[in-house]
Amino acid sequence: MHFNLLTLFPEMFPGPLGLSISGRALEEKKWSFTAIQIRDHAHDKHKTVDDTPFGGGAGMVMRADVIEGALLSLPDRGRVIYMSPRGRVLNQQLVEELAATPTLTILCGRYEGVDQRVLDAHDIEEVSIGDYVLSGGEPAALIVMDACIRLLHGVMGNDETVNEESFSNGLLEYPHYTRPAEWVDANGVLRAVPDVLRGGNHAEINKWRQKQSLDLTQSRRPDLIKR
Ligand code: SAM
Repeated sequence: MHFNLLTLFPEMFPGPLGLSISGRALEEKKWSFTAIQIRDHAHDKHKTVDDTPFGGGAGMVMRADVIEGALLSLPDRGRVIYMSPRGRVLNQQLVEELAATPTLTILCGRYEGVDQRVLDAHDIEEVSIGDYVLSGGEPAALIVMDACIRLLHGVMGNDETVNEESFSNGLLEYPHYTRPAEWVDANGVLRAVPDVLRGGNHAEINKWRQKQSLDLTQSRRPDLIKR
């Protein structure tokens, strides 16, 4: 999978994705990226990328013509998204859709965002990572990339890991435990791993995990059960 990042801060990439599982996958060329400096596509000698909003109001708006120049400089744009708090909220289903795209171009906004006309002119989809406002689209793009990269074939080593996680079946994941089987916490409370997980009966373990998964989802995210 190839990511094109349109950004005013290309140095932010690969950032944390250059480490750990995604970092190894990058070295193994399971994914790649090109970070394009939007400023390089400005037309004036000051390399201006933004201007004041028509109609007044606080902040600056990124110019449509400059962003378009950056977009058209790409030999292959693939699917194009703009990170935006107004967009379709990212969930595992959308991640799966995006991860199936060989090339994903991500436009990262700054200031008050981008001139609406460039989104309209190029039919750019807006994607949000949640109902809060970041100062820029780059951290949001890194989240989209991370979620996609771990779904790419061979990245997680064992594809089963990916299939058993939260949201893969529409539910939150069951709780995990590891050694020691009995642990006394700092308050002196003995905390033992549930017996069923130590019994070795895989049918019983699966039944227990499914119930935990359902109960957790019911209490924490009833919206997922409805869906
Ligand atoms: N004025 C915009 C609004 O109220 O919707 C917020 C602009 S924000 C300060 C600057 C940029 O950060 C946005 O253009 C977008 O690219 C990115 N951004 C902020 N919050 C985001 C979110 N929840 N999801 C995705 N991108 C976000």
